This record gives sequence, C-alpha cells and structure tokens, in this order.
Amino acid sequence: MSLLDFYEQALTVLKQQGNYRQLTQYQQQGKWLTIASKRMLNLSSNDYLGLAEHSELKQKFFEQNESLMTSSSSRLLTGNFEEYTCLESTLSDAFQGRSALLFNSGYHMNIGILPALCNSKTLILADKLIHASMIDGIRLSAATYVRYRHNDLNHLKQLIEKYHDDEIERIIVVTESVFSMDGDEADLQGLVALKQQFNKVMLYVDEAHAIGVRGQRGLGCAEQYAVIEHIDFLVGTFGKALASVGGYLICDEVIKLYLINTMRPLVFSTALPPVNVAWTHFMFEQMQSMSTQRQHLHQLSQDLKQQVLAKGYVCPSSSHLVPIVIGENDQTVQKSKQLQDLGFYIMPVRPPTVPKHQARLRISLTASIQKQDVFDLVDIL
Ligand SMILES: *Cc1c(COP(=O)(O)O)cnc(C)c1O
Repeated sequence: MSLLDFYEQALTVLKQQGNYRQLTQYQQQGKWLTIASKRMLNLSSNDYLGLAEHSELKQKFFEQNESLMTSSSSRLLTGNFEEYTCLESTLSDAFQGRSALLFNSGYHMNIGILPALCNSKTLILADKLIHASMIDGIRLSAATYVRYRHNDLNHLKQLIEKYHDDEIERIIVVTESVFSMDGDEADLQGLVALKQQFNKVMLYVDEAHAIGVRGQRGLGCAEQYAVIEHIDFLVGTFGKALASVGGYLICDEVIKLYLINTMRPLVFSTALPPVNVAWTHFMFEQMQSMSTQRQHLHQLSQDLKQQVLAKGYVCPSSSHLVPIVIGENDQTVQKSKQLQDLGFYIMPVRPPTVPKHQARLRISLTASIQKQDVFDLVDIL
C-alpha cells in the first residue's frame, strides 16, 4: 500500500458526498465570468464595489507610483517601508485617531491577534457563525473558548454572567459585523451596551464584508452605527471591496505596540510588497467617496431580498450577501448547476460550512450588477 492511498481514498469519499472542490479556470470581465467559453453573470464575487477591473483607477495609480520596490523581509527587519506607516497613519486619521496596524492578509490577522493577546485566564465568547480564520486563531490561543448562539445577545449575556469571576481576567467577545454565510449582521450597538455593563469584557469585530460597503465613508458597520471608539479590536480585510490584499486592526496604541512585539504572523512573515500597500492606500482613499456605489448596492440588495422572500424562500440576509436556503445538498447543487446553465454564476454552500439541511445558494452582489440582472435571475429561480 502506498503512503498516498489514504489521501486518494479521502478524495474519493469527498467526490461521493458531492463535496469535492476544484480550482476552476476562468476569465473575468467586469460583472461577467467566462468558464469554458460560457459567459455568466458573476454572483459569487467579493469585489463588492466593482473596482477590481476599474482600468481608469489602475492607470491613475500607476501614473502616481512609478518606481516601487518589492519586499524582502518582515517589517521588524528591513521590510518596514514608508508605504506601511503612511497607510497606517491614513487609517488612523479615518478611524478617529485610534491606532492602526497592517497585516499580510485577513487570515494572518485573525490567526495572529487572538493567540498573541490571550492567556489561560482569558475567555473567548464567539458567535456560532464566525469565519474559519477566527476559529483557527482561537484554536491557536491559550484561551478557554465558548460559543454563543448566532446573534443571540441574551445567550451571550448569560455566558458573561456565568464566567465573570476571579478566575478570568478578561473576556473577549468575537463576532463579524456582516456575516458571510447568512448575510445578516451583528447588533453592534447592543454589543457595546452589553460590554459597558461589565468591566472585563472587550469586543473583537471582523468587518471583512462591511468595509467599503457600510457607513457614509465606507468605514464599515462601526461607522454606520457610530461605535468606532467602543470596539477594542476592529479588524477587516483589503481583499474584498477594496480590491487589494491585506488586513488591518484599529485599536488602542498599547495593543498595537504589544502585537508588534508578540504577534507571530507579523514577526515571522515577509511583509507585503510596498507596491501592494500603496495600491491599498490609493483604493482606501478612493473608496471613501463612493457613496453612489454603496447606495446602489444597498438598493439592489433590498430588491433581491424582497423578491426572494416573495418566491417563498427562506432568506435571513440584511446585506449584499443574499443566501437562498434550499435545504438538502443534492437539490442545492442541482439548482446551482441549472442557474449556471442559464447564465448566472452562483455557488452552492453545503455543510460543514453551514448547518445540516440548510444547504444554500449564496448570492454575492456587487455594485457593477444592475437591477435588470436581478430581475432576470429572480424570474427563473
Ligand atoms: C475573507 C475573510 C477573511 C480573510 O481575509 P483575507 O484577507 O482574504 O485573508 C477574514 N474574515 C472574514 C470574515 C472573511 O470573510
């Protein structure tokens, strides 16, 4: 028996369960995606503001940034180019003077911050539906870890009361603002009010799906609900609406200094190339004035949700991420294939990513999609 047999069998099982994943070859052009010469409307993109293909912006950027070096080390060695400090200072200005720290990706950020901050006297209370990157961060940390029911602040309060004793030095509540699978959102004002009733509670909020999309200047749900200064660890990614790569943390200066000294993905990984950071900076500034796109995306999302509900489907969303819950895996996969045949690129989401019997089609809207596209889709649902 070869040492590879085990892996081959595991792949066979995945195929039998209809859970086998592949890297697909495709071309992208604006809102369109072409696979094997079939053109489809891309309803699975994270490019929420429709900026990834924006050639005018690219041209403008390259006119301003002719000679940028590539990176060759961690920021703690010789990788701390001025592009980093410059972007951190712009972020800090945007987020009410709080400190900002950059990371190579949202994944690095989430697997690095919690392990650095937590010891065995830390309790993490995490929403049941948080992203895999935060779960991995929690697993790498020394903290005790309990999940609360999705968006259930009563349950969260019960858990805080139960554990708020001498053994525990701090409780970190971990959540997303807009959730990637249900497209619903956390009650940030409620979370802040809850935190203020206790003296050991801190809030960690991931705005991956809200940065660029929510708030007057696109600074996320924290801006929209006016709670920026109350969230101890406000994190997000530049990999989605900002059409770049990287992650950021908005926090107290002490936390920033502490992480620079202790956070392993920051210390032991080569920093992003300065050209990438300059592009992020450029996009972050452009993004703030794109309220027309944000408004359009918001309207589009509401229209789609209403029509999906009118068709009798279950849809928990209150954002541009619009799941259509179908139920069983087979039905869901079949439905997504049907829709792809008809020109709509929609991916099925199955357990274990979502709970059993809640397999769904996940529609991710972007600002380059038009109202008519949504009508056409709903017609054939
Ligand atoms: C996509 C995502 C991340 C990871 O961000 P990357 O920059 O792509 O590594 C982290 N958190 C959430 C909630 C996400 O959806």
